[in-house]
Formats: sequence, C-alpha cells, structure tokens
Amino acid sequence: MKQELKSFGDIELSRKVLHAIADMGFEEPSPIQAGTIPLVLEGHDVVGQAQTGTGKTAAFGIPTVEKIQESGHHVQALVLTPTRELAIQTAEELNKIGHYKRVRTLPIYGGQSIDRQIRALKRGVHLIVGTPGRLIDHLHRGTIKLDDVETLILDEADEMLDMGFISDIEEIIGAIGNEERQTLLFSATMPAPIEKLSKRYMKHPQRVSITKENLTVPLIDQCYYETREKFEGLCRVLDIEETGKLIIFCRTKRAVDDLTASLEARGYLAGGLHGDLSQVQRDRVMKKFRDGRIDTLVATDVAARGIDIDDITHVINYDIPQDHESYVHRIGRTGRAGRKGVAITFISPREYRQLRLIMKLAHTKIQRRELPTASDVLERQKELVTERLLKVLKQDDYDDYHTIISEVLEEGYDPVDVAAAALQLSLEGDAGSREEQASFENTGGAPGMVRFFFNIGRAQKIRPADIVKAIASEADIPGDTIGVINIYEKFSFVEVPEKVAERVLGAMHRNTVNGFKVNVEPARKR
Ligand code: ADP
Ligand code: MG
Repeated sequence: MKQELKSFGDIELSRKVLHAIADMGFEEPSPIQAGTIPLVLEGHDVVGQAQTGTGKTAAFGIPTVEKIQESGHHVQALVLTPTRELAIQTAEELNKIGHYKRVRTLPIYGGQSIDRQIRALKRGVHLIVGTPGRLIDHLHRGTIKLDDVETLILDEADEMLDMGFISDIEEIIGAIGNEERQTLLFSATMPAPIEKLSKRYMKHPQRVSITKENLTVPLIDQCYYETREKFEGLCRVLDIEETGKLIIFCRTKRAVDDLTASLEARGYLAGGLHGDLSQVQRDRVMKKFRDGRIDTLVATDVAARGIDIDDITHVINYDIPQDHESYVHRIGRTGRAGRKGVAITFISPREYRQLRLIMKLAHTKIQRRELPTASDVLERQKELVTERLLKVLKQDDYDDYHTIISEVLEEGYDPVDVAAAALQLSLEGDAGSREEQASFENTGGAPGMVRFFFNIGRAQKIRPADIVKAIASEADIPGDTIGVINIYEKFSFVEVPEKVAERVLGAMHRNTVNGFKVNVEPARKR
C-alpha cells in the first residue's frame, strides 16, 4: 500500500464530505479505502481488489463525490453495478456521502417504471448508479446522455462478467464520448477477462490489491460441528446461541426449500432465497429479513450474492462450501463494519477432509466444538425464562395480579409453589385442556382454510394424490375442496376448508396414508 492513513482527515477531502463520513459512523478508512482514495483524487485510473464487505463502495464513492461539481447539470459520474439490489444500496451510500454537498444521485435499474426514471433524469442528476441492461435501454431511447461523464466506475466487475454483461458494458463505455474520463474498476476477484477489460479501457491503471492473507476477518469466531444428524444439531445450536440475524447456506435450491420448511415447522422464523424465486418473491423475503419479521435467511451461494446487510451475527454453513473461496465469501457476510461475527460449519464425518483443505487454503483455523446436549438446551431455556422473569420484576407493572395471588395464598399455599405454578401457567398454558382442543387459528392457511402438518413426505414416496384420496375417503369430503398441498422430505402441509377441519383432524390423526401411520396437527403459522 502506498501510504498509511489512520484517519479520513489525513486525506484531502472537503469539510462537507468529511462531515458526511463522520455522520455515517466511519471511524477510519478500511485498507482498500486507504489504498485507493488518494490515487483516485490524484486522477489516476485505479483497479481495486478486495473481498466482499471491505468497503469498496466508499473507496470509489468518497473521491467520486468529492470531485462532483454541484453547479454542473450534466451526468458527471456513472457507476455500473450488476444487480438492482446493489444499484439501490450503492446509490443510498453515495447519497449519504454527498449529503452536505447536495449531490443528486439516481439509481437506474430494470423493474422500475422507465417513465419515472426518465422524469428523474430530466430534473438533472450528477451521479448515476445503474445496471447495464436498463442503461442500454435508456441509451437506445435517447433518454440518457453520457457524453460528459468524467468518472466511470465498474463495481463488482467479476459479478457483472459472470452475469454476461460484457458486451453491454462495452457498449456503454462506447457511449461515453469523453476520452479524458477517469475509469475505476472494483472487484472481489480478478479473473483474466477483467484484466483484459482493464487493459483495453483504462489508462495506466494503478492497482491496489488487499491480499488473501487478510482474507478472513479476524473478528469472526469460526467453529465446526461434526454430526450425522445435521438438522437436530442445527436446532440445538439455534436454541442455545444468542443469535440476531443469521444466514444459513445450503448447496441446492431444493435443500433451501426443505430446510426452510423444516425450520418453520419447528417454529423458527425463516425465509428461503434461491434462483427459482421471482424478483418479487425475493424482494419480499429480503424485506421481511431487513425489517426483522424473520431472523433466519436460508440461501444458496448464488442467491446470497449481492445481499448487503450489516448486522448479520451468524453465518451457518449447513452444507459445507465447495471451496475455500466460497467459504471466505460466505463468512464475510458477518462481522461487518467492525461488528463481531460467528461462522459455524456443519460437516458429516466424511467431509472432514474437505474442511481441512478449506482451513489450509484459506489460512484459517476453524475450531471443533461439541454439539449442545438436550440438557444444555434445557439449561439455556431456563436461563432465558429467568431473564424474562427478572425483566418483568424490574418493570414493576403487575399490580393488577396482586389480588389473585393474595387470594391463592389465603388458601394456604406456599408462595414459592404459587410462583412456580404461575410460571408453568404462563409458559405451558393450562396443561389439562391443551391436548383436547387443537387451535385452528393461525395455521398459516389461505383465508377460510386450515393448514395441517402431516409427518409423512417424499421419504415415504407420498404424492399429493395420495393425500387427497386418503382425506376424501376417510373424512368423507369432496377431494376438490382440499386446498394447497406441499410435500417435503419428511413431512407435508395440507390445507382444508375451516368447516371440515375438525372432521379431517379426527379422521386422519393416527390413521394411515399409503400404509404409513400419520400424526396430524394444525400447522404453526409461517
Ligand atoms: P464491498 O463493496 O467491499 O463488499 P461495502 O462497500 O458494501 O463492501 O461495505 C460493507 C459495509 O461496510 C457497508 O455497510 C459500509 O457502510 C461499511 N463500511 C465501509 N467503509 C467503512 C469504514 N471505513 N468504517 C466502517 N464501516 C465501513
Ligand atoms: Mg461492493
């Protein structure tokens, strides 16, 4: 690296930009920022390479915003980025950096109304962050003018290439008339086609590479569990670890669906993300995750690309990553922005060799841990109950219940017994009546439908038709009134009309389907 920079104040930045950086809570430049910002300010073309989560956006964003002339009314800088998510996020970050300078930044991406974008463009913007496809669209319509772009930035260049944007990128570069422009390229990896691109379109680029030795973030606590019962192990770990938002990685789309459904069936708040989902579905899951309505995202490597959420506390490799690069990439999603992070990997005994190879190539140590036992989990639950109870006591807002307790004490019960019974009542409900009346509310079914959980699935070679046939004949209802049926590896969900729910439960619970004995219960809400 060219120079050691301890603070942003050591870089020649205007007061307004420094003020904005301080507002964003950045204390000091990250290595890639310290290495590249001065070079960009000096006017060099720059190629910056550093892993995901190391602050590449601000590395080009800070000097680019610094150079913008607020008085100008033309597009002065253009950032190309692979996905819509990233376009939005990057534009937000640039907006923050340019807050006091009043830099106008506009994200341009497919899926949003083009007319709205055209109107925004007409109002005049300094800085555009766009995905290649939609930019080309605007170029062809003549609704965007790139003649006077002074800074062109190719962000996440490796992903743009992976996604097949190369010819779009070349067309856009061709549309930038300005031969004097400055070109910046940022990427997590530098495969040959990117080298080629930089040779072709950049002038004596300066290279800043934050090398692989720094690849893993030291704040991350890394461990692994070896088990043949991964799902059981996962549940125990989730019950015992103090987790916030977490991402669980699976190898395949089907594994994502199955694990998400299994977690939901156990009452965890999980959502799945993979390539077969539509953009709308993906956005919905991501929004829930961001808002905290679910805390667990189950994803494939590909689907997790471009996810940029700061406060992930845990990354869990439910399936071991294919190679060390993927491992580093995955775990880089936690421990961001100086926070603590935990990376947990599950392996079967056979996969130990693969794990050892990952450790060797990634120059990292992954600690072996023993899975929590059932009694550890119980112990932890007790701790949690104690914490909650103490919280209620501290809040001191339970006067209304004093009279009940006084009355019970007058019956001659011991106060400790009364307290214990009250706790049981609040945690388990009235045990006697619990068995009889299954609740058909909140089963996550469509309106007017009750969703049931059946503990049989693909493993028993069950098909939807088998379930329809069994219910129709046993409960004596028309087969076509049965709603959505989802069959997973070890269980299924079946929706039936509310009116017949009681009858279906009575007829099917402990009955058989295709010769397999089944337990049926109302599903828990998704
Ligand atoms: P990359 O593009 O390298 O994957 P990002 O630019 O998305 O990484 O940055 C990852 C996170 O780190 C973002 O939330 C960003 O706001 C934060 N960040 C960037 N630079 C700093 C810094 N100097 N100090 C603290 N947090 C930072
Ligand atoms: Mg980035």
